[in-house]
Amino acid sequence: MRKEDLARFRKILMLKRELLSGDVSTLQNEALRKNRHEASGDLSNMPIHMADVGSDNFEQEFTLGLIENEETTLREIDEALKRIDDQTFGKCTHCEKSIPVARLKAKPHARYCIECKRLEEKGLL
Ligand SMILES: [Zn+2]
Repeated sequence: MRKEDLARFRKILMLKRELLSGDVSTLQNEALRKNRHEASGDLSNMPIHMADVGSDNFEQEFTLGLIENEETTLREIDEALKRIDDQTFGKCTHCEKSIPVARLKAKPHARYCIECKRLEEKGLL
């Protein structure tokens, strides 16, 4: 991959990273705030209806699920940035074939080519 393309992808990845890490800390604060609230045992804040309790738990699980996804993406972005430094960026980390630029534009932190990604989704990688 050409130097200027690598530089462009590095910029995109850094920007994505910045946006995501902002999101993660907001979500983490939100989830922690809810945990503290539950741990405090303050009865005056107890939800009255069981339906409320259910939706509260659901919301928290949902938030924690989002954090997990974003942390995975962040890790993938970091790995992609490392591959830019190593000049292996743009190659599938499994079969080492070049990943099409169109795929990298859609998902710059992609580590597999389409074929290997399919294998991964089937649990074969
Ligand atoms: Zn591959």
